[in-house]
Amino acid sequence: MTADRGGFAGLDSCVHCGFCLQACPTYLATGDEADSPRGRIALMRALERGEIAAADAALTTHLDRCLGCRGCEPVCPSGVAYGRGLEAARERLAARDGPPPLARFALHAMTSRELSPVVYALARAVRATGLPRRLAGWGRLRFAMGMLGASGPMRNAEWGMRNGRSLHDSAFAIPHSALSPALLFRGCVMEGLFSHVHDATVRTLATNGVATGEVAGQGCCGALHAHAGLVAEARALARVNVAAFAGSDAPVVVNSAGCGAILKDYGHLLPGDPAAAAFAARVRDATELLAERGPVPGAPLGVRVAYDPPCHLLHAQGVAEPPWRVLAAIPDAAPIETPGAARCCGSAGLYGLIQPEMSRAVLAPKLEELRAAAPDVVATGNPGCQLQLGAGLAAAGIATEVCHPVELLDRSYRAAGYYA
Ligand code: SF4
Ligand code: SF4
Repeated sequence: MTADRGGFAGLDSCVHCGFCLQACPTYLATGDEADSPRGRIALMRALERGEIAAADAALTTHLDRCLGCRGCEPVCPSGVAYGRGLEAARERLAARDGPPPLARFALHAMTSRELSPVVYALARAVRATGLPRRLAGWGRLRFAMGMLGASGPMRNAEWGMRNGRSLHDSAFAIPHSALSPALLFRGCVMEGLFSHVHDATVRTLATNGVATGEVAGQGCCGALHAHAGLVAEARALARVNVAAFAGSDAPVVVNSAGCGAILKDYGHLLPGDPAAAAFAARVRDATELLAERGPVPGAPLGVRVAYDPPCHLLHAQGVAEPPWRVLAAIPDAAPIETPGAARCCGSAGLYGLIQPEMSRAVLAPKLEELRAAAPDVVATGNPGCQLQLGAGLAAAGIATEVCHPVELLDRSYRAAGYYA
């Protein structure tokens, strides 16, 4: 076997034990072996060997249904690199057909430098009317409205404020000379719809001694392209970011799990490029940087919080503890952990657009667990998860908000009087 097998080689260690089956949301939804990691590995290996054609309908059906959540990796005793294999298989399939036209258009609308600012400005204007929240429900259009409605800042302005600014009488300040630098990765969806999370990230990091700087010329991380098999486009985007962030050793802070996972993987995406590997080594999730520094405690919020770990933070980046430590800095917010929290919510980039039925089927058990646990808010550090969970909760009539963990910490700091 030779090195040009790429990601397919990562599948070789599969011993067909089946330990991964119960960790796979699509297998749990259909009970079909071909919708399990083991079944898909068999299909991908057959594709590599040429025993199945890239045009084979069963192959594309079952690989298209994979969320790419990588929930199968941590439970695998043989260390199968499922994600790498899937990436290689999708690249091969995309070379033949490419993503469906709707997904291609969505990708362009969400990530292109020319079109996306217009799309996001329009989306924010519609969101500001309040209509998306009122129209949220099941069905493609109503679910999309729910997603847009879920993208705004936390609605409940009272959380934390009932406690008064109890811990500190004046604004908390660290002398500027004591601050260490970091550079903010803004991304496209985060910048377009979640700039309030960027603001919360900058404030909470400053409170913990990190001064976050801006970097001109950065762009989309390329994650959605890579997941769709458009690896050449993902590489082109990666090169732009590597060049934009060059010339500094400061950590690159990212608050989107999906972006963070691919930014940390740029060394693999651009093999043989030392600058890409050096960039990747600097990337830190915002919760990692905060957790390294405590974070300093805030004020109570008086809310029940559930934490839902994004797959691309927990499985792809292996970042498990830091978000809990961020939430633990809120004195009364010991988060609830629902039994299926570590399973994918069904968001998975453009998956909801391409596989709406499976996406909803994967989401359904998570919604029922949240209905039973009845938290006031679910914290999750990825825009796709926030949109999917927010739209699902609204459609299911569950009065639970969704936000980023850093937003909750920010509110807690505001309530503590660290800043106005
Ligand atoms: S991927 Fe891992 S857990 Fe799943 S069948 Fe193969 S060896 Fe077993
Ligand atoms: S990546 Fe997720 S959906 Fe795909 S096989 Fe693994 S666990 Fe199942």
